[in-house]
Amino acid sequence: AFDHVSEAPPDALFGLMAKYRADEAPQKVDLGIGAYRDDDGKPWVLPVVRKAEQLLRDDPEANHEYLPIAGLAKLTSAAQKLVLGADSPAILEKRAATFQTISGTGALHLGSLFLAKFYQTPEQSRPVLISDPTWANHVQIFGNVGLKTDTYPYWNKATRGLNLDGMLGRLREAPEGSIVLLHACAHNPTGVDPTKDEWKQIAEVMKEKKLFPFFDTAYQGFASGDLAHDAWAIRYFVEQGFELVVAESFAKNFGLYGERAGCFHFVGAPAPNAAEITKKVASQLAILQRSEISNPPAYGAKIASLCLNDPTLFAEWEDNLRTMSGRIIEMRKALYDKLVELKTPGDWTHIINQIGMFSFTGLTPAQVDKMIGEHHIYLTKNGRISMAGLNTKNIQYVAEAIHKVVTE
Ligand code: PMP
Repeated sequence: AFDHVSEAPPDALFGLMAKYRADEAPQKVDLGIGAYRDDDGKPWVLPVVRKAEQLLRDDPEANHEYLPIAGLAKLTSAAQKLVLGADSPAILEKRAATFQTISGTGALHLGSLFLAKFYQTPEQSRPVLISDPTWANHVQIFGNVGLKTDTYPYWNKATRGLNLDGMLGRLREAPEGSIVLLHACAHNPTGVDPTKDEWKQIAEVMKEKKLFPFFDTAYQGFASGDLAHDAWAIRYFVEQGFELVVAESFAKNFGLYGERAGCFHFVGAPAPNAAEITKKVASQLAILQRSEISNPPAYGAKIASLCLNDPTLFAEWEDNLRTMSGRIIEMRKALYDKLVELKTPGDWTHIINQIGMFSFTGLTPAQVDKMIGEHHIYLTKNGRISMAGLNTKNIQYVAEAIHKVVTE
């Protein structure tokens, strides 16, 4: 029955990881995977997460029961405040609904499923516009639920910054009602975020063209070290009265990658019947969630919830976030300084101007091949490097390798 099934290519990023693991060269460097590493190149369990784990272990009431369908209520309410702001009118007016999901990917999936079922009309199929480039999984997540996807320009190759005119132009000509996927902060893979003024222009065009914002926030607090700063765009859009959804991941900012903790948020537009609409939306989300995963995983949710709800742990978490974002910002500076010192041809200021886990170096596919084949430095084909893979011990080696592949 399945002879028609063709072989799909393996996942490029996970393939790269396997190649890195198999490489026996002692000088090898992993700049592929988007996971935080400490200065010894090791995964880092946040000290605040260790504390929360200990609290869980010591709790005589702790158990492994199912969570409710919408997830751990203490987590979803805290997550809502984290993203929207504690005094958000959307929360006060009860027009926000939150479901705990299988990390950010699950939140994107639940959101896309909801939009496929409730946002399409027989006369009109509304496409999802996704930045070009974007996180490799976006297109297939939306495509898998039958939504049409298209792209909007984002990266300006010449300036290695944002192509705002290209983006706004594409949004202006998008069919009314189109869904627009927006990276809330620390755009993956480019590391280029719109400024506040640019976000305002984006919001203006989206309002005029009645476009629907779908925010993906996978790096809140991890990008700048400031939780409110990294949520600014979402809060601005809410303030502007948009109806919108948000997919939130706790993988990076809590270092809970494999525990799969995240949330999906629906925010209704301000209107007299908004709370009623949101309640109905939540009832439908509950059905989708039940049929997909029944209920979300508990362990990571309990840890994140402890950290978000206890003021002392929360303050410590913020401190841990500053440690991670601070080290990454230092590595950007160090890489930039070394390339300048080596007089590597080209302008490398984009390395310090970009934000978050990734930097789009501008290395060509051929140069990337050399980085991997000749220098054992692993990065994705598009020239993206994970800043978290850099540390004080390997930065000189990486800078010299970049210098060589650029000048050879
Ligand atoms: N969105 C973006 C932009 C990401 O970079 C990631 C993680 N790489 C995710 C969503 C979701 O990741 P996860 O499912 O692990 O939370």
